[in-house]
Amino acid sequence: MAIEPGPELAPHAAHEQDSRGRRHPEPPPRSRGEYQRDCDRITHAAAFRCLEYKTQVMVNHADGPFRTRLTHSMEVARLSRTLARSLGLNEDLAEAIALGHDLGHTPFGHVGQGILDGCMKDYGGFEHNIQSLRVVDKLEEKYAGFPGLNLCFETREGLLKRCSKKLAPMLGDVGERFLNGHQPSLEAQLVDLADRVAYTNHDLDDGLKLGILSLEETRELELYAQAYDETADRVGEQRLQVLLHETNRRMINRMMLDLISETRSNLAELGPTSIDEVRRAPGKLASFSTDMSRLLHPVTSFLYDKYYCDPRLVESRDRAVAMIRELFSALMECPNLLSDELFARRLQKRERADGEAGRARTIADYIAGQSDRSIGKEHARVCGTSRG
Ligand code: MG
Repeated sequence: MAIEPGPELAPHAAHEQDSRGRRHPEPPPRSRGEYQRDCDRITHAAAFRCLEYKTQVMVNHADGPFRTRLTHSMEVARLSRTLARSLGLNEDLAEAIALGHDLGHTPFGHVGQGILDGCMKDYGGFEHNIQSLRVVDKLEEKYAGFPGLNLCFETREGLLKRCSKKLAPMLGDVGERFLNGHQPSLEAQLVDLADRVAYTNHDLDDGLKLGILSLEETRELELYAQAYDETADRVGEQRLQVLLHETNRRMINRMMLDLISETRSNLAELGPTSIDEVRRAPGKLASFSTDMSRLLHPVTSFLYDKYYCDPRLVESRDRAVAMIRELFSALMECPNLLSDELFARRLQKRERADGEAGRARTIADYIAGQSDRSIGKEHARVCGTSRG
């Protein structure tokens, strides 16, 4: 018997009894809901554990209590549950999407993805959202009755945040909305924005604590300055760690409250009475207010210029991403250097079916599944030179 998260679910929420189901039919879970089962399956996936050693912004071997993709995914999951609960939506579905949203990331973050996409340019490219779907649909191999994790349609729909019209037809049911202009569930829309709340705040926090961002410059951002000034009056500038945390916490709260109130007013205006009406709405119903978007815009540019593109980070990433390129070329040339049995088997099978493109896709899957740490060892073994 499936368990609904609560009677207070709004009519436009994702109700489990209306789910479009799993690709391979299974009996309903006996002690939990369907989306709860998805959360559990993602948490037990090898790709989820690998997020511990994958870069958020810093290359993972930097010591200290900085964010990794694993802690980022957990923060997004907590924020997503809060948003879903406040708006009468399905908390378990929101959590499942949040836990899985970064599963397809390569080592070394967005830069790593760009390099792997370049390596794959003649073979259909590489995109982390599509890779997240490949992980849960195909690459996790652990259940006797089906490939992947066999997640519900609504969870898979939420994982595929973006997709080009060219690739959408190859993705079956979850690709359709990119062709017909439909929206995903509200739960999925909110997880996407919870992701932004999480990384905007934790990147400012990590950047300041690492000394890469200066407090003086950060305080020139209106959104940050308002939260900081409110806090400084109470805490005093000599307790810097507390002051930074209190500032961060206020910013998160302000963004979350804005998101809830703006989404509520969008819902009141359109009045959807089912998830299908949410999907057919002319635009996304979850959004920040115009005022918050105006305040966020300079924060995003600031993070990009002063943190993500800081020469110290760029230099360590440049060294790291060269590994991806070299490892890809070496394995394309000598696929028998692939020591992982599962991937070696897959490579033979895909190569028989799709030739060189099949070989390239399997190698890309293999590299994307490495962590920032394991890829160094693998690069040293395969290329015979350590850049660790
Ligand atoms: Mg993310």
